Amino acid sequence: MKRQYLEVPYPERGAAKRLGAQWDPQARAWWVPSPAPAALYARWMPPAVGEGPLTTVRLLVIPEDCWKCSAQTSSIVGVLAGEDEESFVPFGEELARAIAAVVTPAELALLGIGELRPRWSRSGAAVMSNGCVRCGVVQGAAPLQDALAGHISDDGTYAELEVARVNLRLPG
Ligand SMILES: [Zn+2]
Repeated sequence: MKRQYLEVPYPERGAAKRLGAQWDPQARAWWVPSPAPAALYARWMPPAVGEGPLTTVRLLVIPEDCWKCSAQTSSIVGVLAGEDEESFVPFGEELARAIAAVVTPAELALLGIGELRPRWSRSGAAVMSNGCVRCGVVQGAAPLQDALAGHISDDGTYAELEVARVNLRLPG
């Protein structure tokens, strides 16, 4: 079963632990053991995704070798919200949540993409990130942005990076 991860600020880790939250050292995140009264953890639940209309978007990925386990894994760098290149929406917190709300980790894995979920950054905040499809470790945002910028500056197009079309509620 998929773990319900929490977004617990570092100073509140003791409070989360006292309520029974479990630490996942690989994910570097707290999670809720089930069955658990969800209300106890409500303040740390990731925000719900909005109620906007569904848009068919093209999911864009860059394949790379995981820095930790060397498996080939694809990371999401953004979406095209329409047919033209101008409709590019870069990967970010809200877009990642919108994708994770409609595509399961198992479905992403079929596309060679690792799980999207909050992972701890060095600043101590939980940030939605790409993970390795095999070992789950975070795939850093900066190298992905560099790879995307390199692709575009080599006359590549966003459309070439499409792996799937999905219906989601785009962040407003
Ligand atoms: Zn890996």
